[in-house]
Amino acid sequence: MRPKKTYRSKREIPSFLQRAIKRRCYFCEHNAFVDYKNADQLKRYITDSGRIVARRHRGLCAKHQRQMTRAIKRARIMALLPFKVIG
Ligand SMILES: [Zn+2]
Repeated sequence: MRPKKTYRSKREIPSFLQRAIKRRCYFCEHNAFVDYKNADQLKRYITDSGRIVARRHRGLCAKHQRQMTRAIKRARIMALLPFKVIG
């Protein structure tokens, strides 16, 4: 069996395959809403060092990324999430 071809970057993927890759937003798909009190949910959208993950990495739509950013900032003030993780 031929080994499965892996691509190092998105640019290497042929255009006919790029179209096949579907970017879907978790919140649109599950009809869920972003809750600033739900720290476990928000934790999936911050890095280990506490930074907000970029939209292109998580695949959220613009609307939900905006809501997510606001929710994370709100949760930080309420001390549910860290501003910064040192060390
Ligand atoms: Zn969405």
